Amino acid sequence: MGHSLSDRSRTWLIFTMPVCRKKIITGCLAAFLLMFSGHGGFARDWHTVQWVTDGDTIVLENGLNVRYIGINAPEVAHENKKAEPFGNFAARINRKLVQGKKIRLETDHDVRDRYGRQLAYVFLADGTFVNAALVLMGAAYCLPVSPNDRYDDAFQKAQHRAMAAGRGIWRNWEKKPEKLLGNKKSRRFHRMTCPFGKKTGKRNRIYFSNRWDAFKAGFAPCKKCIKQFRD
Ligand SMILES: [Zn+2]
Repeated sequence: MGHSLSDRSRTWLIFTMPVCRKKIITGCLAAFLLMFSGHGGFARDWHTVQWVTDGDTIVLENGLNVRYIGINAPEVAHENKKAEPFGNFAARINRKLVQGKKIRLETDHDVRDRYGRQLAYVFLADGTFVNAALVLMGAAYCLPVSPNDRYDDAFQKAQHRAMAAGRGIWRNWEKKPEKLLGNKKSRRFHRMTCPFGKKTGKRNRIYFSNRWDAFKAGFAPCKKCIKQFRD
């Protein structure tokens, strides 16, 4: 008799204990990421990750530098520049996901970027889609670069979830009012004073009143006029 009461309180505990809630979230994460395990697969070679440079770049055992496609993580400290907010966090998440692991690469239209790095979608042996996982955990935001857009919709969905949950880079975000100009073609947003922004064709213009809304619409900050994704 006292039994059912303690059962009930146990059930209640499951949904209120932070540890258990964390497990539920991890379960959802895994389910979301495994949805991608059936895609692609034309690059069947497996590589080992030797080194994690930051939240969106790794080095393989064969010395190849790999830049993840479709996403951008805040920078870690390099040369004379300080780390961006969440730069070390993003590197840490990426390291947890791939360091020392076997991975499979999938390419899109452009195989290399202008720095000679291999551009790739990265998958773990269990099917985890690393690019999407980083966005889902709030370690990176969507950076659409046409024509390498095979998974842009998936990244956008992952970003919406991360934003809604306030994870990582989206945590305690203050919507500072700021007039911004988006370019529907390049999917970048600019400060109103940016010379690159001013070149946006009339039909491609869209305006935002804060960065959150621009990110939520799938736009990424222009690197020339917005130095840090969040300041
Ligand atoms: Zn700009």
